[in-house]
Amino acid sequence: MAAVPTIGVLALQGDVREHRRALESCGATTAVVRRPEELERVGALVIPGGESTTMWRLARTFDLLDPLRKRVEQGMPAYGSCAGMIMLADHILDGAEGQETIGGIDMLVRRNAFGRQVDSFEGDVRMTGLDTPFHAVFIRAPWVESVGEGAEVLGRAESGDSAGRIVAVRQGHLLATSFHPELAGDPRIHALFLEMVKGLS
Ligand code: GLN
Repeated sequence: MAAVPTIGVLALQGDVREHRRALESCGATTAVVRRPEELERVGALVIPGGESTTMWRLARTFDLLDPLRKRVEQGMPAYGSCAGMIMLADHILDGAEGQETIGGIDMLVRRNAFGRQVDSFEGDVRMTGLDTPFHAVFIRAPWVESVGEGAEVLGRAESGDSAGRIVAVRQGHLLATSFHPELAGDPRIHALFLEMVKGLS
């Protein structure tokens, strides 16, 4: 199997350190990405949780939005958690005025969807590709209202009013989760992404 390339973590805002730690615990080499030159040097990218409106504005300010779109279009593997999921969505609901995304996954994502019920909660998610449920941390999390034909649903919320809501999606080289695996102390989602990257390298 091919070696895993350096995994960038988009470091405009959000929980960058936790993602690097989780990736490195799986044996990956990581680098922060804040500028176009840094993006050029990585072979895959993690977009952390945080605040998608801030990430979008900073990506515009740092001239990163178009390079990010280009790399994703060209097939760079990327994984977005929470705000990162919003950044990878082709379509969003309840965004800020004029909010733009990188896009790439044919899905409609609603911002702060779970947050309208309760800001933060934890719950188990059964994920395609994992043997046992993943204990997921949700923080003002989005959910996926619908996916297009090219996108595969990997996991759904299991309990409460939001049971059945889509919380994990893959489309080819792109992976997204509503929740924060970097805060769960369980590296299996990061390992799944690294397997995906290896398979595509
Ligand atoms: N509500 C945030 C947003 O819109 C996402 C929250 C998170 O990443 N924990 O970006």
